[in-house]
Amino acid sequence: MTTYDYDLFTIGAGSGGVRASRMAAQYGARVAIAEEYRIGGTCVIRGCVPKKLFVYASHFGEDMEDAAGFGWQMSQPSFSWETLIRNKDREIDRLNGVYITNLEKAGVAIVNEHAELVDNHTVRLASGRTLTAATILIATGATPFVPADVSGIEHAITSNEAFHLETLPNHIVVVGGGYIAVEFAGIFNGLGVKTTLLYRGDEILRGFDEDLRTGLREEMTKKGIDVRIGSDVEDLKKNKTGVKVTLKGGEVLETGLVMYATGRVPNVQGLGLEAAGVVVDKKGAVQVDGFSKTNVENIYAIGDVTNRANLTPVAIREGVSFAETVFNDNPLTVDHSIIATAVFSQPPLGTVGLTETEARKRYEEVDVYKSRFRPMKHTLSGRDEQTLMKLLVDPKTDRILGVHMMGPDSGELIQAVGIAVTMGATKAQFDATIAVHPTAAEELVTMREKWTG
Ligand code: NDP
Repeated sequence: MTTYDYDLFTIGAGSGGVRASRMAAQYGARVAIAEEYRIGGTCVIRGCVPKKLFVYASHFGEDMEDAAGFGWQMSQPSFSWETLIRNKDREIDRLNGVYITNLEKAGVAIVNEHAELVDNHTVRLASGRTLTAATILIATGATPFVPADVSGIEHAITSNEAFHLETLPNHIVVVGGGYIAVEFAGIFNGLGVKTTLLYRGDEILRGFDEDLRTGLREEMTKKGIDVRIGSDVEDLKKNKTGVKVTLKGGEVLETGLVMYATGRVPNVQGLGLEAAGVVVDKKGAVQVDGFSKTNVENIYAIGDVTNRANLTPVAIREGVSFAETVFNDNPLTVDHSIIATAVFSQPPLGTVGLTETEARKRYEEVDVYKSRFRPMKHTLSGRDEQTLMKLLVDPKTDRILGVHMMGPDSGELIQAVGIAVTMGATKAQFDATIAVHPTAAEELVTMREKWTG
């Protein structure tokens, strides 16, 4: 028996912290979890889940247009943002309740307060109460970053506020070129908001395969989004109708709303990491080893606060391996080398493994298989939209190094493909798999001709 109040004190009740806490409790630990906002964390409360609901909402306009080619005639459809927000909030409340119930059922004590480390075994709550624990888990996630050097930045919103807008603007400027920027540009555009995306670099989605980057920009542009690359904001000024955006170079855009999606930073402010002696890197990310242990023997950190791969399923996996290691005597690390991921842009992207650029850096030779085609549905809808499938293969071992796709349901498809790639599948094994016809995914097992550029 320890003399501490708890065996585990978790700070942050997001996906990772909740999973780790529940598992530790199930292994017999006395666990408490602190959360200063809402139980469920970014993904459930103001991230993946409401975002995906918005993506569904925004797709119906296009679906209704596409239906005409299949014989459907509809009278003028209308959209109510208010209804969407109300229904979304109800679903988020339900999920929040499920998370609370699951923690309670597991016997985890919930502390709805900000918690700060006082030393490596003690946390002080906002109310002033202090609690001690043998092990401390930091799972505080990340928070939107906005560049403070842009004058008038206080007039911009982030994704946090986008989930609670009272009304939709007529026009929005989205700044950034990462996951959140392209997803929200698609959402707003699909909901009928005139949308401009400003990205400072030479192509959106840095770090993704080049073909997906260019392909998605082209498709977004076809859908009416004004995607401007090599474009950045000089300053923002509030005016009567919204915000006046002056670009570097002098051009001025008048818009109803500006949303910054320029990355996220680890949530370490006011956590007392210094007092506990926990080391962070230049970006504030808590430094951990393969078991998610910090430089302090009894303090661990998982999820976005460690800035490894900032994805919910990764945080959950890190939480599981932490609980197994510390509370079930089963040391487990997480393999971050192959992670399938989706961008819920319109069209969506799915990707796993190396990009072509990365593969060419690491391997002497890389075989590329590529197929670009119009999805069958659009032969009747008439929509000008392309699907892209790409396989990268190491010719020496025949192993699949990367799979990249753009097109309907790519997020669903890449999950299954991710299993094969994680298992080390070869191109010959893909080829030996009988196709499912007629699907877009059959391209993955029928591409025979190497791409020669
Ligand atoms: P990202 O890191 O993906 O992208 C940030 C973007 O902002 C980049 O395009 C970056 O440009 C640009 N940027 C950064 N600083 C500035 C600046 N000062 N001025 C102008 N532009 C700037 O961050 P996101 O906010 O999009 O998403 C955060 C993380 O959340 C993602 O990395 C991802 O891990 C996770 N996420 C995952 C989702 C999913 O799985 N579908 C969905 C949403 C988020 P540059 O390329 O030049 O650096």
